[in-house]
Amino acid sequence: MYALNATHSQDLISWVESANQPETDFPIQNLPYCVFQTSDNPASIGIGIGDQILNLRACAEAGLLSPDFETVLQHVNLNPLMALPPVQQSQLRKRIVELLSQGSPEADKLASVALVPQTSVDFLLPCNIGDYSDFYASVFHATNVGSMFRPDNPLLPNYKHIPIGYHGRASSIVVSGTPIRRPVGQLTPAEPGTAPTREACKLFDYELEVGCFVGQGNQLGESVLIEDAESHMFGLTLLNDWSARDIQKWEYQPLGPFLAKSFASTISPWVVTMEALAPFRCAEFQRDAEDPRPLDYLASDTNSQFGGIDLQLEVYLLTEQMQQQGFEPQLLTRGSFTNLYWTFAQMLTHHSSNGCNLRPGDMLGSGTVSGQTRDSRGCMLELTWDGDQQNALPGSQRTPIKLPTGEERKFLADGDTVIFRGFCESNEHRRIGFGICLGKVLSATQAM
Ligand code: MN
Repeated sequence: MYALNATHSQDLISWVESANQPETDFPIQNLPYCVFQTSDNPASIGIGIGDQILNLRACAEAGLLSPDFETVLQHVNLNPLMALPPVQQSQLRKRIVELLSQGSPEADKLASVALVPQTSVDFLLPCNIGDYSDFYASVFHATNVGSMFRPDNPLLPNYKHIPIGYHGRASSIVVSGTPIRRPVGQLTPAEPGTAPTREACKLFDYELEVGCFVGQGNQLGESVLIEDAESHMFGLTLLNDWSARDIQKWEYQPLGPFLAKSFASTISPWVVTMEALAPFRCAEFQRDAEDPRPLDYLASDTNSQFGGIDLQLEVYLLTEQMQQQGFEPQLLTRGSFTNLYWTFAQMLTHHSSNGCNLRPGDMLGSGTVSGQTRDSRGCMLELTWDGDQQNALPGSQRTPIKLPTGEERKFLADGDTVIFRGFCESNEHRRIGFGICLGKVLSATQAM
């Protein structure tokens, strides 16, 4: 696990003025990676700093970085960089802090050859995501959703022993800003014994999640020990695991989610590194006294003490009417990543524990981040639900979300934009943010 070092110091300031503003997501202590392009520049790896991007390929070409990084920075995805051992990741971060710090002798040169305003670029996916697995790590989400789908048996007996997950779909992961088409699918028959219908999803939902990118991989047939799991984690991104609840209800048994999830998932363009997150590590979730202890392969002292991440997450909704009438996006949810029953180290360890090889750039989804209170529920399925098991899904008795235009939502409507934000803050350290993860819902098409 990364230790605190000089790159985390609150005293650091940058010659990039916007990075010193208190509200910025990207102070010099953060330095998240992205891949971007502009009309004049081919795709390049970059680093977020204030409202700018530092073009790392341009830095390498100008001879400002160690030749060790030249090859990985020629790529148009982060995968080869992600595969580097943590000690090298740290060296690169240290050098970038030197270059961007106030007083850097390279400031003028960088400002002219390597700095690009974020508003002038198109973001690409940060890496080739070979595989994506989605977990179910919030016990509050699992209990709420379980009680809707299985009123008699909300939390299955395996939940507190295994980080539950399924293999998601990597090909349909898109970068923030990409419009999301409402899917068409088979829905539960209106009457038992009759045929299902095939129509546009009516219960369209988002899921507030965090994605963890694998750094160094493991060989097929070998497993990652819990003590080493953090050294296989490169960084985190915001993840919206769009979900078609009505399609899900009909298709999910016995093998789990399929087309209700695979039509699209959105990630933020930014990857906040595990090293940047070092000041915000915290103890794992406090299990109830009567809960089972995890089996040995999922437990370590380091994971117990520092496996958690004190990361705040927010969901905002902006409808087309709100936009037309000049309203700001409305906050729907404020949640905390500390509510997860399982840590990413436990998820990664469990994933590889059968010898399954994880590769640089693979993504693990945390599962919907929901807390105990209503205002910390991470999807509409939970937010608008009143605990009435008989009206678990469409339910006339759902309590709609009220919006400033007088509109109401039980699930997402066409034209709605969903925006996630995330940030870490504490008194002792500079606040760092995750940028935004945004998607607008388009109407279903006949073409499907
Ligand atoms: Mn999910």
